[in-house]
Amino acid sequence: TSFQDLDLVPELQATIKQLNFTKPTEIQAKSIPAALKGNDIIGIAQTGSGKTAAFAIPVLNQLWYDKLHNYCLVLVPTRELALQIQKTFDALGLEMGLKTCCIVGGMNMLEQSRELMKKPHVIIATPGRLMDHLENTKGFNLKNLKFLIMDEADRLLDLEFGPAIDKILKILPIADDTNGRRNFLFSATLTEKLNKLTKVALRNPILIKC
Ligand code: AMP
Repeated sequence: TSFQDLDLVPELQATIKQLNFTKPTEIQAKSIPAALKGNDIIGIAQTGSGKTAAFAIPVLNQLWYDKLHNYCLVLVPTRELALQIQKTFDALGLEMGLKTCCIVGGMNMLEQSRELMKKPHVIIATPGRLMDHLENTKGFNLKNLKFLIMDEADRLLDLEFGPAIDKILKILPIADDTNGRRNFLFSATLTEKLNKLTKVALRNPILIKC
């Protein structure tokens, strides 16, 4: 496969080219077509495999048709990973007026609230701080959410973010009908604890291992 063979909007094909992504990596070649068909995905892949674009490309392609704020939530274990993912989304979304926002611990709550009020399309967040905003930032909610991504999900659970994730899942729009929320979970390993999370959060996921 090449990126040209994938059914992607021209705005996305253009930025993929600008980034010099000539050929999809293995995880991209397997995940992107499955995601474009509407499947939930469990992706087992390491850092450096191109997993960020593997989930960002199908989300951005669908966002081009829907153009909603608070459309996609990416839950991550660390601030560093959040910033890295934001960079990839920003680069791929350059031709479509994409707005992104990082909501991570250790940074100013009020400034983050202001960022949220600017109506970003994609929010990349650590679970604890996101929960804080859901409870305390007036006017912020996730009613529009169409995509939930959990990246480095094994580390999310290792860092004891499980309870915050459970709370967030209870607030999110449902994932159990054809127009409902869609979900991608990426992890380096698939543990017993993670299996439980995938059963609660994902809907008939396809397992992709690289
Ligand atoms: P990730 O595993 O998402 O952290 O990506 C690792 C690196 O691979 C990043 O610097 C990406 O910009 C780069 N990358 C992702 N997909 C491709 C691709 N299809 N071709 C070339 N480089 C890529």
